[in-house]
Amino acid sequence: MLRIGHGYDVHRLVEGRRLILGGVEVPHTLGLLGHSDADVLTHAVMDALLGAAGLGDIGRHFPDTDPAYAGADSLKLLDHVVELLGARGWQVGNVDATILAQRPKLAPYLEQMRENLAARMKAALEQVNVKATTEEKLGFTGAEEGIAAHAVCLLERV
Ligand code: MG
Repeated sequence: MLRIGHGYDVHRLVEGRRLILGGVEVPHTLGLLGHSDADVLTHAVMDALLGAAGLGDIGRHFPDTDPAYAGADSLKLLDHVVELLGARGWQVGNVDATILAQRPKLAPYLEQMRENLAARMKAALEQVNVKATTEEKLGFTGAEEGIAAHAVCLLERV
């Protein structure tokens, strides 16, 4: 059995926060604002996985009103999502994700993000793809007000 899922997330860029994407701390003058570490890429991936399994979204599993998730490492939340899927017999077939950011240049960090996500999803590297694009200075990502991420996934159950 196969299921597809889609995830989308946005976080605001602010001063005084770290920029964490796919578990990688990217050097930048701004970081993402959020209750957790605001790892927008990992959040989009988790929402794609939960969506494919019919399990709602991360807001339902990790409410931002719960102090337990303040400053949370989103890769640890991903571990929890993968456990939920595994308990229902789902394995990751593949994940493809795109980060939308005007700055900084993310190319040097994409491979590490891919490795982090693949490891946490118990998937091979070739099953995971992470890419980045600008939106040509258009909209909120172009104005560097925030960073967005999209993800799609395929889940497999034997
Ligand atoms: Mg989020």
